[in-house]
Order: sequence, then C-alpha cells, then structure tokens
Amino acid sequence: MTAAPFGTFFLPGPTEVRPEVLQAMLQPMLPHRGAAFEELFARIQQGLRPVFRTTRPVYVSSSSATGLMEAAIRCARPGPILCLVNGAFSERFAHIAQSCGRDATVVGGEWSRPVALDVVEDALKAKSYAALTVVHSETSTGVLTDIAALTQLAHRYDCAVLVDSVTGLAGVPVETDAWELDFVLTGSQKALALPPGLGFGVASERFIADAKSAESRGLYFDLVEFEQYVHKNQTPNTPALSLLYATAVQGERIAKETIERRWERHTAMSEHTHSWVHELRQRVGAAFDVYAPLDACTSTVTAVTLPPGLSGDAIVKGVAQRGFVIGGGYGKLKGSTIRIGHMGDHTMEGLEAVLEATAEAIEELVG
Ligand SMILES: *Cc1c(COP(=O)(O)O)cnc(C)c1O
Repeated sequence: MTAAPFGTFFLPGPTEVRPEVLQAMLQPMLPHRGAAFEELFARIQQGLRPVFRTTRPVYVSSSSATGLMEAAIRCARPGPILCLVNGAFSERFAHIAQSCGRDATVVGGEWSRPVALDVVEDALKAKSYAALTVVHSETSTGVLTDIAALTQLAHRYDCAVLVDSVTGLAGVPVETDAWELDFVLTGSQKALALPPGLGFGVASERFIADAKSAESRGLYFDLVEFEQYVHKNQTPNTPALSLLYATAVQGERIAKETIERRWERHTAMSEHTHSWVHELRQRVGAAFDVYAPLDACTSTVTAVTLPPGLSGDAIVKGVAQRGFVIGGGYGKLKGSTIRIGHMGDHTMEGLEAVLEATAEAIEELVG
C-alpha cells in the first residue's frame, strides 16, 4: 500500500501522522535500562512538559488512553467518585469507575453541553467525594468543558479532578500547573498527532501522595510506580520503544511551532469548519448545524448535525470516493452526525480540501 499524501485523513482519532514522525520509528532497539534510553526519555520529557504546561514529570504508558483513565480511577484516594457525563467518552470514564469497584455517582447525562457547575456543586454539597471524572473535549460531540473553573470549584470541596483531555491536550489550552489539575491524561493518536499506542499523563504531587492510600492500584497502571521510574528517566515495564522515538521527534516539532501557535492553528481550523457548516446550510438549504454550542466547543473536532433523511454513512462513503477520510457519528449520535477531526498536524489548506470534498459528496446526495 502506498501512502496518500499528507492531508487526507481527518478522523477524530487516530489522526494523520507526518512522514518524518513515522520515519523516526525505524530506529534500532535499545535496552530500556541504560544511558541511551534515558537520554531518549529525557528528550521526551523536554518535549511534553511544555505541552502539558507543567514542571511535573510526564508519565508515558504503553497503552492507549483508556489505560490511563483506568489508572486515574485505581490511583484516586479511597472514597466515592463523582462522574460528569456529557458524551460517550465521559460515559466510559464512569463505567471504568464502576468496573473498578468504586462507589460512583453520575451527574449530567445531556450530550449537548458541559455539565453545569451548579449541578456539580449540588452533588459536592450532598456528599463527600474523593475525586471527580471529566472529559475536557468530548470527541463524540465536540463539546468543551471549562476544566479550570471546574477544578476551582471541586477543590473547595476537597475533591480531586481527574481529566481526560485526550482530544484537548496539544490542540486547546491545558494549563496543568496553573489550573492545579490533579491528574490529566491524553493518548498519542489525537491532537499530539502520533501513532496510536501510548498514553501520557501528569499527576500533581498531592495526587501521588494520596494514591499511596489507594489499596487496589493493581500493577500495570500503578501511578506510584510510574512516579518512581520517571525520575530515573525510565518506565516501570518494557516501553513501546518505537513509539517513543516518534514522540521525541514530535515533541521537537511541536516546540518549533510553539504550543501557543499550535492552539491558534486549531482555533482557526475550528472557526473555518463552523463557517463552512453555516455556508453549507445556506447553499443546500437544509438543516446542517454545529452540534456543540458556540460558547463550549472544542477546536479539535466538529460534530455536524445532519438534516433528517441524510445518512452520515453515505456522506462518509462519498468523501472516501474523493480520497479523504472523515468520521461518522459516535455513540448515540452515530446516525445523525458526521465528525471532522481537524487536529494534530493538519493545516488550513488540508482542511479546505477535505471540506470541499465533503460539500461535493453532500450536494451529490441531496441534489
Ligand atoms: C479517543 C478517546 C479516548 C480513548 O482513547 P483510546 O486511546 O482509544 O483508549 C478517551 N477519551 C476521549 C475523549 C477520546 O477522544
């Protein structure tokens, strides 16, 4: 299979990876207890800490992001967990809490917006929680939650905040230290634009100190172990070395762009996609819309609601015939939306091309 040129693959994860990043994975194996590995790991730290906006070490997990969601739950100090649900991935976080045997309470449930702060505060007043779970950027809907305000509120009730920022981090601002996030995680294959297979997470010192009192942390996802090893520039177990080579290169690429410019590029791509949706509505005369509210939308993915009778699957197929990949709807929005992932290393030019192809596919179906 020969690779299509960069700028054709717009799934909201995995997203497209630059050839030079893929190329980095062809380097030889190394012992993971040795100086050359430690040097590579230190390079990765240098690249990722500014992306997380933290002075804390960044844990590297050889798992997909869900592994670190489970780590967050297993390592939260003992006590009930409050789960904010407003989409498919926050539902998953709640399910993980339940399946790890935690006393988990779900609040929210509506997918069209973030869970309101007063709803969260009522829950925090009614019962004492060790931690809450939240998805920063809901990839199923494109809804963005203000995790800075949420964390301020939760900390007034001594509740730790566990953040899934899988399609947030590296695409929209995340200020791990300034916002005092207790634990924040992402996966390699979303806005970081790396191949799938790695999870990255940052825990506060307090979170790790408290984690020692969590009894069933298990072994593979024990963040206390990650903390011990990360200071030696190592991982607890054999890491996915080839992916680490890619991560080192990508960290340097992001540093060159600067994280601020990366955020701006994502904002511009998101705004452009929104205007495209509104133009499409005018031109085709049908009820296309952006699913997420304007004041709470992420910059990395747009879920587009379709007029009744128009099939998301048929649009995705029509776009594929034109050489591009976009996403269908997810979870309960499967039939009624399409999703365009404009994250990672995508450019405005690439985005314009995929949107043109999508408009053509739609016009063919409705025309
Ligand atoms: C993709 C995604 C996940 C799951 O990531 P995996 O890498 O598949 O485990 C979790 N949360 C959000 C918000 C996601 O977009």
